[in-house]
Amino acid sequence: MMMKNVEEKDSAFRINLVTIEGSGSFPCPKCGMTISPEDETEENYKVKDTKVVNEELVELVIACGKCGRTIKITGFQ
Ligand SMILES: [Zn+2]
Repeated sequence: MMMKNVEEKDSAFRINLVTIEGSGSFPCPKCGMTISPEDETEENYKVKDTKVVNEELVELVIACGKCGRTIKITGFQ
């Protein structure tokens, strides 16, 4: 049983990939457009910032390509 664990913090919407089933895509919290972190074409989102620890990506800050909502993604494996 997987549950989405999303909460509002700061000005950014946070989402943990560990809590997402399947391909890791999720709907934008503002406009509902499907955003897939696996899609690196930046057509559905723009990367604003990345946080790397020990050469591993731990946090990705993106902006929705449609409405511009800031979303922080964590839980990379
Ligand atoms: Zn959006």
